Amino acid sequence: MRSNPPAAASVLSGIEPLRWDTLGQPLSRRFNDFYFSRVNGLEETQYVYLRHNQLPQRWQSLAPGQAFCIGETGFGTGLNFLSCWQAWREHAAPTSRLHFISVERHPLSQQDLRRALSLWPQLAEFTDALVAQYPPPCGGFHRLVFDQGLVQLTLIFDDACHAIAQLEPRVDAWFLDGFSPAKNPEMWSPELFKGVARSSHRNTTFSTFSAASSVRRGLEAVGFAVNKAPGFGKKRELLYGQYRPELMSGSDQPRSDQPCSNQPWYAHPSLAADPASISIIGAGLAGASTAFALAERGCQVQLFERGAEPGCGASGNPQGVLYAKLPVAPTRSSRIHLNGYLYSLRLLQRQLSPGQHWSPCGVIQLALDDREADKQRKLLQSGQYPDSLVRPISAAAASVMAGYPLTAGGLLFPQGGWVSPAELCRKLLNHPNIHCHFNQPIDSIQFDPARQQWQLRSPSGALLHQAATLVVANAHEAGHFPALAELPLKPIRGQTTSVSTQSSALKTVLCGNGYIAPAKQQRYCFGASFDLNDLDTRVRTSDHRHNLALIEQMCPALAQQLAPQLAAAQGRVGFRCAAPDYLPIVGAVADPAAYIRDYAALRSNAKARIDTPPTHLPGLFVNLGHGSKGLITAPLAGALLADIMTHGPAPIEPELQRALNPARFIIKRLIKGII
Ligand code: SAM
Repeated sequence: MRSNPPAAASVLSGIEPLRWDTLGQPLSRRFNDFYFSRVNGLEETQYVYLRHNQLPQRWQSLAPGQAFCIGETGFGTGLNFLSCWQAWREHAAPTSRLHFISVERHPLSQQDLRRALSLWPQLAEFTDALVAQYPPPCGGFHRLVFDQGLVQLTLIFDDACHAIAQLEPRVDAWFLDGFSPAKNPEMWSPELFKGVARSSHRNTTFSTFSAASSVRRGLEAVGFAVNKAPGFGKKRELLYGQYRPELMSGSDQPRSDQPCSNQPWYAHPSLAADPASISIIGAGLAGASTAFALAERGCQVQLFERGAEPGCGASGNPQGVLYAKLPVAPTRSSRIHLNGYLYSLRLLQRQLSPGQHWSPCGVIQLALDDREADKQRKLLQSGQYPDSLVRPISAAAASVMAGYPLTAGGLLFPQGGWVSPAELCRKLLNHPNIHCHFNQPIDSIQFDPARQQWQLRSPSGALLHQAATLVVANAHEAGHFPALAELPLKPIRGQTTSVSTQSSALKTVLCGNGYIAPAKQQRYCFGASFDLNDLDTRVRTSDHRHNLALIEQMCPALAQQLAPQLAAAQGRVGFRCAAPDYLPIVGAVADPAAYIRDYAALRSNAKARIDTPPTHLPGLFVNLGHGSKGLITAPLAGALLADIMTHGPAPIEPELQRALNPARFIIKRLIKGII
């Protein structure tokens, strides 16, 4: 867990430049090939991919609520995805769910994507929705959500062979696209076919526009029965077929039990069936995001909250800032933050209109000293982060944008801004599948083995609720439950300051060692203090002064304007909940005794090969440890947890999932010989 292997970003080389022919059809300069048939790309998609995977027929026979998963190599313009989504709307039952996973190594720009798809006015509604959510060319996973969660696109900007080798979910149908094997031999490799087979099951089908014999042989070698059919347009033939490893000779048959990772302790529990009803403790960003993600996946959620409304704890500050602090070279933690930032932006776009509670006014991260300026320069030179995500801004331009004179420039996050976390929680919880129980403090959770249920009790010991599947999302208070005693949660006290203002001249969020957002309802909110091992809930004048000093560093003119108001300042104290590695804790909760027993060999050999699957506390999950970054990590973590619980494809790489796994602490302690 210590080294950071290269992120998917390192295989990307920015936006792919295109050529356009006289008919306005896109052509790859790199591969000198067209993205789709010049005869009729949409009909080609429908013929090659939908018809030869028998999709409409297979969708019609799905059980209510059942999900169907498609895997694709080469997202390109997204035409295959859009035509598939359009057909899904027409043919699948309204409760079924579509997962579409597509890998793209050379992403198109948003403008080129729109231009290519504008060839199909009949797809305009789908094109608009895709373009609105289309991510910048940052390597890794991007989860896009459509049709109230019924259609989920996991767009992976990475090399297909690398990404598909790591896929965990079972794919029901493969769209093997990608330029022709003659022009793109690197992609159509034995590794790709092995990865495709590893994520296939007995009913998995595939189709491809290519009829190359190398493709046929490659697929047959990994267990696919391959057929030929007439190709589309000028193409003579295409290939399609089904995964039939049983037809292979015994020694060639792939083992279906081969683990994807040699760290079985990080495997997720395999629940017998998707839980129909799930209970959650906590209605802050973590609880609300988890509830929403589960509700969108068709689960009924019972949510218990000590306070009278959502976002009473650390998520209750009037304004939270939405941006990601990025390092020069991506680390696991920065990849999670960047992925989460982009995920939250898309969620806000779906859930809140810009206005009173969410303002994408931009965030300027000021370079307040030489060290920070040097770091920002290196970050921009690294080429890791596209312009649309973050770009340099001079002191003069920053001053114009902010509406106040600033002595330093810095980095501009043009899509960032501020949001009211409590309002976002409220919006997420307003879903027909979510049933909120406010003013219900849960003092203890205890597993009843006879009923196989968790018993939730009030401070007076009254039994309030029983749940077979429980998610604990109440930040540092979770540490009071003995079942979670192994999780090293620490509360970090933070005080924000709010003062009234007559002039609300600040136009953008400023960040340095603290932050301040444009005024909301004639009040400026800024902060925040950061105190470990301090459980004092009282608002302190000294912290108000500290917060004002943070503003003074960034914008003396604004600090001068705020100073006279400080005597009448209102403050709010919250407790951020953080893990020692400052990463969220998301997933099933390990059974400590079983882990210590089963993985004891790690004490003497950190690389010990152990095959024992992990034992978890039955039906117990957590979404915790978001520190001060809940706005960018909690929604993504909610989606991840919901996917783990409902066996869907995850929104982040397996490596990043392991970095968030609650079992990481017990495994580290075993390896260090502490337990
Ligand atoms: N399915 C696409 C559509 O609906 O527009 C068309 C795909 S286009 C023919 C092939 C795509 O494969 C291109 O976007 C190309 O960048 C991508 N590609 C080529 N080699 C790749 C690789 N090794 N890994 C991932 N994607 C790759």
